[in-house]
Amino acid sequence: MAGPHSSSDIDTLRAKFYQLYIAVEQSPAATAITDTEGRIEYVNRRFLEVTGYSREELIGKTPAMIRSGLTPDIVYRDLWQTLRSGQVWRGELQNRKKSGELYWEAETITPVRDDSGQIVRFVAVKEDITERKRQEEELRLLASVFQTGQATLITDPEMRIERVNQAFTDITGYLPEEVIGHTPRLFKSGRHDKAFYAQLWQEVLETGHWQGEIWNRNKYGEIYPLWQSITAVSDEAGKVRHYIAVFHNIAERKRLEEELEQQATRDHLTGAHNRRAFDTAMRKAIRQAERSDNTFSLLLFDIDRFKSVNDQHGHDTGDAILKRLATLVNQTLRSTDLLARWGGEEFAVLLQDTSASGASTFAERLRQQVAETRLHGLAVTISLGIAEYHRGESPDEMLARADGALYRAKRAGRNRVGVADSSP
Ligand code: GH3
Ligand code: MG
Ligand code: MG
Repeated sequence: MAGPHSSSDIDTLRAKFYQLYIAVEQSPAATAITDTEGRIEYVNRRFLEVTGYSREELIGKTPAMIRSGLTPDIVYRDLWQTLRSGQVWRGELQNRKKSGELYWEAETITPVRDDSGQIVRFVAVKEDITERKRQEEELRLLASVFQTGQATLITDPEMRIERVNQAFTDITGYLPEEVIGHTPRLFKSGRHDKAFYAQLWQEVLETGHWQGEIWNRNKYGEIYPLWQSITAVSDEAGKVRHYIAVFHNIAERKRLEEELEQQATRDHLTGAHNRRAFDTAMRKAIRQAERSDNTFSLLLFDIDRFKSVNDQHGHDTGDAILKRLATLVNQTLRSTDLLARWGGEEFAVLLQDTSASGASTFAERLRQQVAETRLHGLAVTISLGIAEYHRGESPDEMLARADGALYRAKRAGRNRVGVADSSP
């Protein structure tokens, strides 16, 4: 039987050792072996690649060579204490390459013992975690966006929601656990078509950013307008890592806008449209009539003997009657028709797609209705003049014809309808 030191045993050992050596040498993990003082005895190829140093520059030195000075001292104190007590140390170190470039490593350092249990070496295996650290830093940055008070939503590259903040919950009603893992399609209101979203995402992909008004649906099914900005966060290679959407509810702003719009187009006392809005509507109706076979009609009416109503019952009563009258007329109109206060106690109505005969019928019905209804407790009557649009005439010409018809109705005894001549 061959002894432990026979030449064939040594050959086998040598072969085994060589295989081990090759494995470590070619390992993708940077590996270093030091003596108990930390002096480098061996580094593998990956270690050289990572640090940029040659073997000659490293052997006999300590890893202090690659220290960046940015890792706190306490980390090294912990490292040595752990190793000297014979335990494995795991930790993260920020080191510096020969080129000066910084990088992060996760290290596992293992004490190696001889047969008598004495620690004789340390083996350090390192993994480059620079990219992971960069992502962590990025997430910290994203997290700081959370503190702005704006509703914020962060997704992964597949647009699955990763995080939302408190302001998000305040606006949408959704708790984080109800949306994380879902895509923002959850909030679709149905108000926008496919083309809208396609355009939005094309802009995000091309420019990395989109902002604008968008209608979403909250947890309770309500639809509300948002001002939203979407940003694509890309890595150094240009690959999108996250999308961040920041938004706030603009329902109140839109309400104010509508109120301003209302103020600009409505008469204060009666809520009917003002003269300017009527003028705009009339020009539009004329353009439409010129382009098609459609016609429309105009109706002017004026309260009969209103001066005496004011004189007998006071101006406030007069005002109340004006309001009630506007409400009554609006109730009889189709949604496409438009009532305007023309001035004083005179009103104008635009009747879409209506000929003179249709307008006469409507006017007569309105006249009767007013005559039969007590407005603010008083009986009043109105006189009306109507005109159907004639091709080529101006708004003023048409109004003058309607006014002429109204004048004739007054002259003929009031509480009646006058129809304009077909020519000016
Ligand atoms: P008629 O139209 O039948 O010829 O007689 P009228 O007395 O109504 O005469 P006219 O239309 O010329 O008179 C307008 C009167 O309407 C003057 C004013 O007393 C009253 N009036 C006009 N604007 C207002 C208003 O905003 N509030 C109130 N209370 N009265 C108004
Ligand atoms: Mg009058
Ligand atoms: Mg008048």
